Amino acid sequence: MASPQKNKNNTYLDYNASAPLRDIAKRAMVEAMEQCGNPSSPHRLGRAARKLLEDARQTIADCLGVADEIIFTSGATEANHLALNRIDTESIIVSAAEHPSVADNAPGASIAPVDENGIPGLATLQTLLEASPSPTLVAAMSANNETGAITPNLGAIAALVHSHGGKFHCDITQSVGKCPLPPMVADTATLSAHKFGGPSGIGALISKGGGLRPQLLGGGQERGMRSGTQNVVAACGFAAALTDALKRPPTAELRDYFEAELRKLEPQAVIFAENGARLPNTSCFALPGLSGETMVLSLDLAGLAVGSGSACSSGKIEPSRVIKAMGYSDELAAGAVRVSLGESTHKEEIYCLLIAIDNAMMTCGRRRNRRKVTKTNKG
Ligand code: PMP
Repeated sequence: MASPQKNKNNTYLDYNASAPLRDIAKRAMVEAMEQCGNPSSPHRLGRAARKLLEDARQTIADCLGVADEIIFTSGATEANHLALNRIDTESIIVSAAEHPSVADNAPGASIAPVDENGIPGLATLQTLLEASPSPTLVAAMSANNETGAITPNLGAIAALVHSHGGKFHCDITQSVGKCPLPPMVADTATLSAHKFGGPSGIGALISKGGGLRPQLLGGGQERGMRSGTQNVVAACGFAAALTDALKRPPTAELRDYFEAELRKLEPQAVIFAENGARLPNTSCFALPGLSGETMVLSLDLAGLAVGSGSACSSGKIEPSRVIKAMGYSDELAAGAVRVSLGESTHKEEIYCLLIAIDNAMMTCGRRRNRRKVTKTNKG
């Protein structure tokens, strides 16, 4: 993978926001740029472009283990929008931990509460399904972008929704390349290439069967579901990045080292979703009395790029909606800092992060004496 450290003074620890472009994806795109045809044109050059596009689509289907339709979109946001605007459902239920591209694209939806790990409960979901005009579309993500919480009961959720005659939508954007792929039990699933080292501006909706309502009309591309000339170059980068990303899923070793040392620096540190299954690259925490915004800015001054809450809502200084839904106070939700590691992250960077957090706590008057950070995992 390409190093994210274009500037040597910067350490990138925000992979859940966007991962650096993989070299293999870059090469696939440069090669695809040599073609000039429109994949809808019937001539030889058009057919060559169409072949690149369809080969990319097939590679993605094989990687995900699906025989279903793959509709290319501009990213997971657009794919979620497409998935939520079906013609064959009467009501929508979304889990309280969903990304804004799901939550905000379903105005009027019922919200399924989540537990302290960010997971929707089956009993409440059943009650909501029984109270909603049928058929109902239910959306629950496979892994949360802020906390890394993995939804362990996707199979049970899908079975429950289907037993009520509904449709199940699953946003798998954050799982891809970070943990074993979730079982494809959903009627629709969405992903975005830049989250695993593909280019920005391309994603996909995987769809079983029909029932979708196209949002963009025009040339009728993507079997009428998403008009507009396809981005063949990006599709090739998407397929190459996905193939590569699935080869080396991350382990939790560095994240666990970080959290163990963080606890030593500040025993009152709160690590969100700590007691459930989590993506091995993600740590979302709050240090009581310190806002996430302050922490992110002071780490930035130290040359470390981390996230506060979701990257998509950064700029809005509001406590994390997802963490509040998990039952935490406004203060803790406003303190959320997300560290998300990637393939090129190494231990020295985590050590520097811990030193920078310690410095930030000193600067903010949280304590007077510097604490020692252990350089090894042991002890
Ligand atoms: N869903 C999830 C879970 C995400 O993390 C993101 C990106 N933060 C999106 C959807 C939207 O992806 P994009 O911005 O690439 O459209």
